[in-house]
Amino acid sequence: MTSSIDWPCAALPHAELAARTTMHVGGAVEWLLEPATPAELEQAWRCVHEHGLTARVLGGGANVIIDDGLLEGVVLSTARMRRLFRPRAAAGEVGAGEGGSLELDAAASEPALPDPAEDPRLVAWAGCTLPALLRAARDLGYGGLEGLVGVPGQVGGALAMNAGGRWGAIWDVVERVRVLEPGGEARELAREECEPRYRDGALGERIVIGAVLRFEPGPRSEIEARMREYLHAKNAVQPVSQWSAGCIFKNPDPELSGGRSAGRLVEECGGKGLTRGDAIVSPLHGNFIVNRGRASAADVFGLMDELRERVLQETGVLLEFEVKRWRRSS
Ligand SMILES: Cc1cc2nc3c(=O)[nH]c(=O)nc-3n(C[C@H](O)[C@H](O)[C@H](O)COP(=O)(O)OP(=O)(O)OC[C@H]3O[C@@H](n4cnc5c(N)ncnc54)[C@H](O)[C@@H]3O)c2cc1C
Repeated sequence: MTSSIDWPCAALPHAELAARTTMHVGGAVEWLLEPATPAELEQAWRCVHEHGLTARVLGGGANVIIDDGLLEGVVLSTARMRRLFRPRAAAGEVGAGEGGSLELDAAASEPALPDPAEDPRLVAWAGCTLPALLRAARDLGYGGLEGLVGVPGQVGGALAMNAGGRWGAIWDVVERVRVLEPGGEARELAREECEPRYRDGALGERIVIGAVLRFEPGPRSEIEARMREYLHAKNAVQPVSQWSAGCIFKNPDPELSGGRSAGRLVEECGGKGLTRGDAIVSPLHGNFIVNRGRASAADVFGLMDELRERVLQETGVLLEFEVKRWRRSS
């Protein structure tokens, strides 16, 4: 009986999830756990394990589509694990949040902080949002992540997905990550031990607790100018202000698709503007499905399958989903 579990962190029964995603569709989960620190996350994970429950990890919900109805098991949300700070001393904290420091830095006990340019690193817990991270990096004159401007979500989700684009990806600035192994033990992985691929951090079943990120120091004005330029370019081609889950499909191997992106293939197959209920394939970008307000997960899943089938029939290219689909088992 999950109702009698004594959870080691904030826990909500039958929690609605739609508003915790950028697509704003989907139902509830039996239990939503909201650890506020790495220690709570570890304890929560162990508790989930001990009870043999199904668990999923939710970051900013910017690349997930959640089924309608009631999801079985547990969703572990990292939304409260927002801390962001410079390594070495609590006084160097640059972000909001509560709790102890993430022990990712052997020199964490040293009281003095180096000049920001001498040690251009930041420690981010999994729930630190990408906009907060980019703002802090910009303000400190830390370059390297400008390409993620306008990308919603959190550090843990971004590492799991290897979020990025034509101007770089999050793993470009990773020095090391702290993860929970599926068995429950915490472990640090150096960048060299990881093999992130296109839109896939290749972390398997591991849960990201946090990361040490190393930047390129540079003039703030130049970093800001690059962010403005990239944001402007993205806003022109993506429905950024509407409810979506980002790109639905990964771009296929250019050799198979004749160099055409997933969005272009959808467009060529007449997919743009197709609707199911309140879900519509964005007229601006063929790889985005937008919720116009009252779409259900069934509408979105149906549209995704229809696009995939059209593209396969008309071009022979089988598109791979980029978004994660959280389906109920029954
Ligand atoms: C308007 C818009 C624009 C976007 N533009 C881009 C873009 O340019 N480039 C790009 O790459 N993406 C883009 N995305 C997609 C999305 O922003 C990124 O994939 C983002 O990194 C997802 O982070 P999240 O925290 O929201 O992850 P979620 O959506 O919450 O989760 C995604 C996956 O990561 C897993 N996960 C989450 N947290 C953890 C954790 N701590 N440990 C292990 N696994 C975890 C989840 O279980 C799930 O499988 C866009 C999305 C939107 C809505």
